[in-house]
Parts: sequence; C-alpha cells; structure tokens
Amino acid sequence: MSGEDLIEIERAGRRCGVCRSGRGWRRFVVVRPPQREPVVLCGSCRARFGEDPPVGRREPAPESAARDGGPFPPPKAQADKGESKPAGDRLRAALAEMSGSFSTAMVARAAGLNKAKALARLRALERRGEVHRVGNRWSTGPSPDDVALAMDRLEARTSNLRIVRDRARSG
Ligand SMILES: [Zn+2]
Repeated sequence: MSGEDLIEIERAGRRCGVCRSGRGWRRFVVVRPPQREPVVLCGSCRARFGEDPPVGRREPAPESAARDGGPFPPPKAQADKGESKPAGDRLRAALAEMSGSFSTAMVARAAGLNKAKALARLRALERRGEVHRVGNRWSTGPSPDDVALAMDRLEARTSNLRIVRDRARSG
C-alpha cells in the first residue's frame, strides 16, 4: 500500500467506497478510474468491480428531461424577435394567473399597469397569437381559429388513413 493510497483510505474513513465495509481495511486498494475521483475498495469489491467500481461516476445532468415542455414547445425565437422585453414582465405574469376569459381592467389591475398600457400590450400579444378576444374580454386559451384549423388537419389525416387502408385491402 503506497502512502498515497493510505491517504485516500484514511480520507474514505477506512471504509470501502462501494459496500461501506471497514473490515480488513489494511488490505484495501485504491483504484483511479479515468476522469473520476479515486475510489477505495475492499478486497471483495475489488474482485467484483476491478478498475470500474459503480461509484463516483459522473452522470450526465438530466437537463433534457427537465427542459422538455411537452409536445408543443413555444416558438420562442420567432415570438420574441425584435423585442427585448424586460426581465419579469408584469403583464405576462398577470396573464399567467388568469384563467378562462378576463377583461382588460382585470389584467391592468393584476399587472399594476394603467388600462391604456395594458390594452396596448394585450393588442400586441393578440397580433402574436398569445391572447385572443372573446367578445369584449380576452383569453389565453386556444383561439377558435386554431381549433378549427386543428380539426381540418385532423380530418385531412383521417381521410389519408382511410385511403391507405382501402388500398391495402384491395391489393
Ligand atoms: Zn466493498
């Protein structure tokens, strides 16, 4: 056992890095897998795992899973182009709290803006398709136009499926 190994074993509390056993620690070995911290191993774990013990591995950060916002990611780059909006946009924050339909006055109050400013922002968002009018109120839900378009697309896809199936049956 080298002095360096002894230091690692002492640092590990004279315990195996895998099974945490401290038995026979004087016969422990230190393995140094590439790109990883040294790992102290007891005799049986050394025999079992060799130079690749199942500890101290650098797992890739689970970023992609956390970032995945569902099947319809917002078209960010496009929507925000040409407008540097302030951090912590109060109107957007107020919209996030609205459910169903809401009036301009409600948004203005929640955002702490005057009604004219809130209305101007709502109109800008309407042009970008983020809100739409419901009578004399507003909504952040899907607009009736979007729903109609989705139905058209679904119908088109359904008739394609029928054509394919009929061909398969006749051939
Ligand atoms: Zn062990």
